[in-house]
Amino acid sequence: MRAKFARRVAPPPNPNDKEMTMTSRYVDFYRRSIDDPDSFWTEQARLIDWERPFDQVCDASHPPFARWFVGGRTNLCHNAVDRHAARRPADPALIWASSEVGQERVISFAELQAEVEAMAAMLREQGVGVGDRVLIYMPMIPEAAFAMLACARIGAIHSVVFGGFASHALANRIDDAEPVLIVSADAGSRNGKVVPYKPLLDEAIRLAAHRPAAVLMVDRGLSPFERVEGRDLDYAALRARLLGTRVACEWLPSDAISYTLYTSGTTGRPKGVQRDVGGYAVALAASMAHIYDGRAGETFFSTSDIGWVVGHSYIVYGPLIAGMATLMYEGTPVSPDAAVWWKLVERHRVTVMFSAPTAVRVLKKQDPACLTRHDLSSLRALFLAGEPLDEPTARWIADAIGKPVIDNYWQTETGWPILTLARGIEPAEPKFGSPGVPMFGYRVRLLDERTGEPLDEPRRKGLLAIEFPLPPGCMQTVWRDDERFVRTYWSSVPGRQVYSTFDWALRDEDGYYFILGRSDDVINVAGHRLGTREIEECVAGHPAVAEVAVVGVADALKGQVAMAFAVLKDPARAAAPEDALALEGEILRRVDQQLGAVARPSRVRFVGLLPKTRSGKLLRRAIQAVCEHRDPGDLITLDDPAALQQIHDLMKGTS
Ligand code: AMP
Repeated sequence: MRAKFARRVAPPPNPNDKEMTMTSRYVDFYRRSIDDPDSFWTEQARLIDWERPFDQVCDASHPPFARWFVGGRTNLCHNAVDRHAARRPADPALIWASSEVGQERVISFAELQAEVEAMAAMLREQGVGVGDRVLIYMPMIPEAAFAMLACARIGAIHSVVFGGFASHALANRIDDAEPVLIVSADAGSRNGKVVPYKPLLDEAIRLAAHRPAAVLMVDRGLSPFERVEGRDLDYAALRARLLGTRVACEWLPSDAISYTLYTSGTTGRPKGVQRDVGGYAVALAASMAHIYDGRAGETFFSTSDIGWVVGHSYIVYGPLIAGMATLMYEGTPVSPDAAVWWKLVERHRVTVMFSAPTAVRVLKKQDPACLTRHDLSSLRALFLAGEPLDEPTARWIADAIGKPVIDNYWQTETGWPILTLARGIEPAEPKFGSPGVPMFGYRVRLLDERTGEPLDEPRRKGLLAIEFPLPPGCMQTVWRDDERFVRTYWSSVPGRQVYSTFDWALRDEDGYYFILGRSDDVINVAGHRLGTREIEECVAGHPAVAEVAVVGVADALKGQVAMAFAVLKDPARAAAPEDALALEGEILRRVDQQLGAVARPSRVRFVGLLPKTRSGKLLRRAIQAVCEHRDPGDLITLDDPAALQQIHDLMKGTS
């Protein structure tokens, strides 16, 4: 069955183009957010509770830094939990389902508040206060959400590190965040296999220069672990003592820091994306109402992980702020079978679902009957994000479930969608292959990367940029590095101080945008954003490796995979095929142990030299093109054509 959609939305006007005629409700809505941001955002700010009202909507006096809702005081945990617990204490707030351990737990708003207060009391007992950092390294269990909300409650800054990262990656993040305390668990589980967390955490703390004073351990009974005397705390014992303790919400200035979340860029050092309290709460509340069309009392199901931005915005904070129950899931989309998610949709009457294209491509290989075995009548739409959504995948899932499938494009940095369709304002028809149109508050521009000229005519490929100020909810700065924030994001287009997304895009005649890939060295593997430089640094640390290039190569299932080309100090080490295979195995294990399996290249190939320019710059784009059997383009600057030829020969016959 083909999904039915309402009419196509008229294009939002170019912010600078006053001639554009407005024909749809969304265009009016968007226009108001751009032309009269003060009244627009004042209205949106009513979606949350304020302890003290704000005096100024946006202080844009120090570009590129923007402060939203200046003078106001609020609290994310109050808005996500307490205000709903006061009115609807018995309604479900957090539904946890694990197909890995075969458990399910439904936690009401009142129970959630009690759990969060108990966790907040534990943190307070350890001396954690406003502005202190708490690092969270956890699998998908309710205690991870309790920990985030407890931090928000007492004004501590949380920094969640994805559980798939291993000790070196974790150690780097510990050193940057300098947490007073770390919350962790004995283990996660993946495809029925226990994945211990504690040994990786202990190793990371050993490697890090910074020493957290305490580690709060949740013991799921999955993997026995050693406790470090005087440092490791037992969550269950503390909970037994502290459940019932009241811990009031700390009212925080709107521009206080709520959390940092590390993301990859062009250097090996990850950036701590820093977010505020008030702007984030308002942006999430507005996106829940106007984009996702989620309503209080309903259930929202995002299949992401709390280690990523989607998990922050649309597993924990967004749905709860909107008064919805949020479904948190531990497991894969296909175990025990491909019906597992859809069974949850039926059982919990999910109305809005959020997932990633890779998950859909995984489902595509399963029995299609699994998708229709359950009653999906509660579901209004499926949103997909995190990586390009190819047209066949979008069509396949829309047909299979008979629901609108909405792509949304955004980044860790923005915290909520830049481009999509605002279903809460006007159910518009998606164009497959396009995430949609600019969301309210975003002054999106396509620019010529070299000249900074706006590309206003349709179908011109340009850099997707956003004009200052970024709307509420977007990053405030890079944690402890304002200079890096300005240099990385606001200085890449000549002559213009605009925010660069580092994505190429074009806009069609109807005003719909199409994302055409990254302009930097960031790759996207199964919706996971990885920096090739971080992987290169890890591979180059192997004693046999002299030099390495890592590129992202198109992959039918994962969107992209990482591929490494290494030059050895002694080429004879990989002369025999069995030696090359053994060395490749060693290098891949090194990546697994240091960064995590999520960053593991699909192959490490050994070459005599790497393609570089005469000035010594690595030509990653040319390598990528050759790996994808594309024309590497203008190679006028290539130093030695033999380097590219060798990669070409190695990749011949691969698809
Ligand atoms: P992350 O910060 O991990 O959310 O990754 C953000 C990057 O993922 C973007 O800059 C894009 O390159 C890519 N991305 C995210 N969503 C989409 C989408 N809907 N379509 C195409 N690319 C996307």
